[in-house]
Amino acid sequence: MTCWPSVIVATPAHSGVSASLSYRSELLLAPGTLVRVPLGKREVLGVVWDCPTEPPEGLTDSQTREVTGTLDGLPPLNARWRQLVKFAGQYYQRSLGEVALAALPPQLRELDNTQLARRLKRRTQAAAQPVESKLDQQTQPALSTEQAEALSALDTASVPVLLFGATGSGKTEVYLRATQRVLDAQGTGGTPTQVLVMVPEINLTPQLEARFRERFEPLYGAGAVVCLHSGMTPAQRLASWLSAHTGVARIVLGTRMAIFASLPGLRLIVVDEEHDPSYKSQEGARYSARDLAVYRAKIESGALSTAGGEAGTRCQVILGSATPSLESWHAADQGRYLRLAMPARIGGGSLPRLRLVDMNHQPKGAVIAPPLLAAMGERIARGEQCLVLLNRRGYAPVLACHDCGWKSGCPHCSAYRVFHKLDRTLRCHHCGFTERVPRACPDCGNLDIAPVGRGTEQVEEQLAALLADARRPDGQPPRVARMDADSTRLKGSLETQLAALHSGEVDVLVGTQMIAKGHDFRRITLVAGINVDAALFASDHRAPERLFALLMQAGGRAGRDAAHSAASEMWVQTWTPEHPLFAALKTHDFPAFAAEQLAEREIAGMPPFGAQALLRADARTQAAAQAFLNLAAAQALGLPHRDAITLYPAVPLTIQRVANVERAQLLVESASRGALQRFLSAWGPVLHDCRSAPEARGLVRWAVDVDPQVI
Ligand code: ADP
Ligand code: ZN
Ligand code: ZN
Repeated sequence: MTCWPSVIVATPAHSGVSASLSYRSELLLAPGTLVRVPLGKREVLGVVWDCPTEPPEGLTDSQTREVTGTLDGLPPLNARWRQLVKFAGQYYQRSLGEVALAALPPQLRELDNTQLARRLKRRTQAAAQPVESKLDQQTQPALSTEQAEALSALDTASVPVLLFGATGSGKTEVYLRATQRVLDAQGTGGTPTQVLVMVPEINLTPQLEARFRERFEPLYGAGAVVCLHSGMTPAQRLASWLSAHTGVARIVLGTRMAIFASLPGLRLIVVDEEHDPSYKSQEGARYSARDLAVYRAKIESGALSTAGGEAGTRCQVILGSATPSLESWHAADQGRYLRLAMPARIGGGSLPRLRLVDMNHQPKGAVIAPPLLAAMGERIARGEQCLVLLNRRGYAPVLACHDCGWKSGCPHCSAYRVFHKLDRTLRCHHCGFTERVPRACPDCGNLDIAPVGRGTEQVEEQLAALLADARRPDGQPPRVARMDADSTRLKGSLETQLAALHSGEVDVLVGTQMIAKGHDFRRITLVAGINVDAALFASDHRAPERLFALLMQAGGRAGRDAAHSAASEMWVQTWTPEHPLFAALKTHDFPAFAAEQLAEREIAGMPPFGAQALLRADARTQAAAQAFLNLAAAQALGLPHRDAITLYPAVPLTIQRVANVERAQLLVESASRGALQRFLSAWGPVLHDCRSAPEARGLVRWAVDVDPQVI
């Protein structure tokens, strides 16, 4: 029997190629089947979307090409997965083909059926290998009262759960128990149950992966826990994906890309540190993995009838954080999410006390205020550790000539190149352009060119000098180390550095936000943020929210061992100690901070009280970028819901030129998310046309960013 499957292939975001292409096949192909099809002169991977037995209208047999073959041994992608990618494409204004095919591992396109069969066999064999428990027996800690209450509330929750747990309150144990329950349960129709656990950056939280493996591999075999993130090789990604798709893997641990994994038995999604900005993609389809997690749980629960979810199945979602996003917090205020609070730390430890240092009253030019330095010396003498947080890597953000005013600008960007003293380079953190530091000022020949401002390299150097007279309990001078994107570039170096900290080899660790993430350090009793003010006055309205989260999270590294917690402190150096953010930080009062921020947002009509999107344009000149945007705005006249939409004037981005490309954007706002969505859908084809208008000559690319994180 002949049929005419419509097949989704990878199409560029705005190519205008219709969402699916019609082919011919002598076999009836189930929707979701992975196939190889001819496209132009190439053969590409595609997903069968539909398989009518009538030829599509207007097409004759001779015009349609034949499906080359199917990917044998792979069950079709189910209706729920297809609904997820379809929704993501629509909501984020990208083509279905782009989203669907980007969600599949790249290697799937390259393997023939023999190679594929071999990979599949390897997965099932690996999974069967028993793993010996490293623990004497499965010793699970007795739950704290708060953990037990959270778990029982989870049992009956019918909406997404916001697990609002302080740092060190034991959120991971709640995830582990919730996972255990799901894996214990019978899947429907022989499909094993599965759990998706998402983390912002997997490399920074090796302990989480270790705990999941330790707990579940002895029970379910070696292949039961797989990872999925962009740091993996294509072969590793394919292996994990196949395990998940065939139900061999019971738990997938991954970063934002994992939201698109095919998980036929999915019953629980955990989004750890749900407030983290890295859940929002900043390229391609700019999706929010957290928001898609909430949507996906709904589809998997069969709540959306079109997706064919089986009745009676349930998929829960847990969003966990000590400092939730204001969006999730607001949803909980409204009862759309269920908020479960775990305010107490395991073992009864207290959160660190806040010590604000008013920099207006410190000696001029002091990098580290004397009282902070003294406090660090005391910690070191007691054999305790300190973390120093500074969100700027390199030695100094600028190198300057004081004679002629030359500064180390990047020739390709509207930004300064950062001075890295260790390898004596000037490096652009935007385009990567790197040169040796000049011996003299390139403009006037002055030999005396000097760094301005400071980064982690410099603070590391200065702290080592300032603390030279301090002594560890063993009589040795303290060891100061640094951890940032530069120091961890080499494979394995992050692990080595973390190990040095855990073993107590390092007394003071200087680093970027990387050091604030989920590490479970035992001997840290002092955390210091030394240059935080920039975030308080940034034009980005999310900056305070991010600073609060960062400081709470960094503070959360201190005093995790109850024995030390009473004396643990969080120091913050600031020029504006009267800022209300610090008052909330002092009492660890996230609810108060959130309420205040939400009130401001409500007055301004900002998310979550209104919806936003950005139209972004990159062009050879700033004028061309803005001309495209302004034309797009003018052409929007008469589109559906235009009267419910505010289009702001086109403006250059804060860093307006990167790698010789000029960047501009236009903010789109509406009180109604639905209106914004319908407007954007109608605007898409218009934008596509504007691209070829004479005004837009020089345009390189454009993109729509729905629910943007950075404005
Ligand atoms: P969070 O993710 O909320 O910051 P963690 O899950 O890392 O906190 O837990 C903090 C510490 O408490 C970890 O060392 C963990 O092993 C321990 N822990 C968690 N739950 C329990 C429990 N019920 N009994 C004993 N220790 C626990
Ligand atoms: Zn000069
Ligand atoms: Zn540059």
